[in-house]
Amino acid sequence: MHAAREKVRVANALAELPKMSERFKRGELSYSKVRAMTRIATTDNEDYLLMIARHGTAHHVEKLVSQYRRCVRLQDTINANEQYKARELHYHYDENGSLVIIATLPAEQAAVIMKALDRAMDSLDTNADVPAGTSEHESISTQRADALAQIAETYLNTSPSTTSTADRYQVVVHVTPQTLKEGPPPDVPAGTPQKHPNPDPNLSHIEHAPHIAAETSRRIACDCSIIKLTEDENAQPLSISRKSRSIPPSINRALRARDQGCRFPGCTSTEFIDGHHIKHWADGGETSLENLVQLCRRHHRLVHEGGFGCERGVGGKVVFRDQRGEVLADWFRLPSIADEKNTVEWIEARISDVDIDSETCVPLTSAGEKMDWNLAVGHLFA
Ligand SMILES: [Zn+2]
Ligand SMILES: [Zn+2]
Repeated sequence: MHAAREKVRVANALAELPKMSERFKRGELSYSKVRAMTRIATTDNEDYLLMIARHGTAHHVEKLVSQYRRCVRLQDTINANEQYKARELHYHYDENGSLVIIATLPAEQAAVIMKALDRAMDSLDTNADVPAGTSEHESISTQRADALAQIAETYLNTSPSTTSTADRYQVVVHVTPQTLKEGPPPDVPAGTPQKHPNPDPNLSHIEHAPHIAAETSRRIACDCSIIKLTEDENAQPLSISRKSRSIPPSINRALRARDQGCRFPGCTSTEFIDGHHIKHWADGGETSLENLVQLCRRHHRLVHEGGFGCERGVGGKVVFRDQRGEVLADWFRLPSIADEKNTVEWIEARISDVDIDSETCVPLTSAGEKMDWNLAVGHLFA
């Protein structure tokens, strides 16, 4: 069996080695020599091997091949050790406060990282059916950056990822109450880029890292643990209050049960979710179910730094607005399958008399409504 397999291997290798194949065909080379040479032969070293085979015995050829393979293995080991020794990761902060990471990694560590990045990118909800204008096309490199942050967050996560940031880990943000209170100026949407040639680092900054925008600190403060530190005029700590949560666990549980994921129109994210205060607690907003809404990281950012609006409208309905103040079409729940007496009739009433035209393939619910899983699964049983 092994011999037969070996013959197939030799035959396959010879297909790529015309000179060796020709000499073998003419009977100038023994099978033993060809079997050994085809283990290492390429079109680059074919002439050299044929020269050895012509002047030496099968034993010479076999020994040469085995010694060469041992050297290659040794060289590979040396390479692997060099890669391992040269592993390093450098970082620095750019002028605008962005972190720049440069890493050199051995092949197997790199493979793990690339696999994790790929998987994290798959889970990023970049193609969610959200209303036009609320998501821009993001390049692969941008998605990779988001994926890296997601990997870090998952690593730091000691509890299920559906819980809020405050339950998982701490990034310390230094911010004054005044900075948190100051919302965007009334005439300037929060997302409007503004020039701050020399931002005051005392306004808000991440510990051991540069300045962050006031609106970013407001977003982080929406759902976090808070320690109040009182300082004297020389910035010496006078007192530290007990740690408290901006959203207590009991309210957070009720919020999760009610919203079951991001409430932004069309978003279906259920992971990496924050609780957002519709009226910020720093501005006197209550931490109550009425004043809270769940948002995924992307949409929480849009609502704070991105200039989008989130407010309670008529009848307590949560309304989202784009940067121009236009109300975004809200998703609406389709009637639950459980409410229907006859599932088949219900479905037929919606699909009968369809005229096929250029619009036929356009989704009927184009505002990016959430999937009705009751209906979808129920249909499979119908
Ligand atoms: Zn928020
Ligand atoms: Zn979302």
